[in-house]
Amino acid sequence: MSLEQALEKILDSISPIDTVETLTIMEAFDRILAEPITSPLNVPPYQNSAMDGYAVRGADLPASGTATLKLIGTSWAGTPFAGEVDKAQCVRIMTGAKMPTGADTVIMQEHVQADDQQISIESCHKSGQHVRHIGEDIRAGDEVLQPGKVLKAAELGLLASLGIAKVQVRRPLKAAFFSTGDELRAVGETLEEGQIYDSNRYTIFGMLKGQGVEIHDLGVVRDKREDVEAAFARAAELADIVFTSGGVSVGDADFVKETLEKLGTVNLWKIAMKPGKPLAFGRIDKAYFFGLPGNPVSAMATFYQVALPALHKLMGRTPEPALRLKLRCLDSLKKRPGRIDFQRGILDYDGDELVVRGVGAQGSHILSSMSRANCFIILSAEQGTVEAGTTVTVQPFSSL
Ligand code: AMP
Ligand code: MG
Repeated sequence: MSLEQALEKILDSISPIDTVETLTIMEAFDRILAEPITSPLNVPPYQNSAMDGYAVRGADLPASGTATLKLIGTSWAGTPFAGEVDKAQCVRIMTGAKMPTGADTVIMQEHVQADDQQISIESCHKSGQHVRHIGEDIRAGDEVLQPGKVLKAAELGLLASLGIAKVQVRRPLKAAFFSTGDELRAVGETLEEGQIYDSNRYTIFGMLKGQGVEIHDLGVVRDKREDVEAAFARAAELADIVFTSGGVSVGDADFVKETLEKLGTVNLWKIAMKPGKPLAFGRIDKAYFFGLPGNPVSAMATFYQVALPALHKLMGRTPEPALRLKLRCLDSLKKRPGRIDFQRGILDYDGDELVVRGVGAQGSHILSSMSRANCFIILSAEQGTVEAGTTVTVQPFSSL
């Protein structure tokens, strides 16, 4: 099955969580908006100056030579000038201060000769300049944010600029994970012959961190039917979405698929992608399960390419176009046609041109390649070996 087909089937089967809660906008940072936000006011709410200078009447601007205007007061940001600007008069004005009645134009202070009685201006100015108009940014009644938007810095500021103190957001997802494998030891334990440290739990933790989910680490589970079953049952009770790694191949000790079949429903996808062929996706009661491959690079690649879009849909997040760049690749990259390949690459500069290099060894067990890399080089299924100098598609890790 192609990656696209698998993704479509997985996403189709997921319905977003629908519980919402109301939070102050600071608490709502990184959460998913659950309601449309309509502006209750105009931004800016009043006509104001874009510059420090003098508020004048456009009609008083000289067509040639200079004009002298009488200075009648000051409009401060927060303390507007109370009077009216009449013919041949002006008001000292600060950036953001309300335009006084009668004035419609601002002259930058650098462009006038001024004393504390009057200013003189030349003929180079345009009527209406340097004024910010009511509703220029947002009009009252505009829908400024849609449900599904992740609330980041700009959105918090935007909400605050509208005087909105609290918003409805979806509740955070609960995500749990465990590793399976008799060979795995936790950090802090001593390795015996034939054992390795469990690294997938740490990469999965890292990939979940920053997604705004509540994280539950369920540890390492031995390759024993009863242990795997108990872990699945516990995870299904605890979480909305569960990630496991290992045990999804067809080895004798691979119980993940079997257990999911017994407790719920499961599909085992042989996705035509590299790294990361076997992937189990299923449900137990309300919880969704991703059985990621055991190989550390495969676990990361399938998490990012398959599980993350599913996680986002479950959270209720509106999909955004993925950042993909077309860059010249300085190295040749070995590949056989057949599967889409997510090779590990390094973004670099060749002079002032952004280019990409390969990381060398691309084995699915070589986790150091993920750390050296800062992007995936995405090679389509049909693509064969890439010659040095060819343009390739790149997905920076920072965008994931
Ligand atoms: P499996 O799918 O269980 O057969 O595992 C495939 C490969 O990934 C084997 O070499 C495992 O030792 C390795 N592996 C499985 N789980 C982990 C893990 N949590 N951390 C590091 N390596 C793992
Ligand atoms: Mg295993």
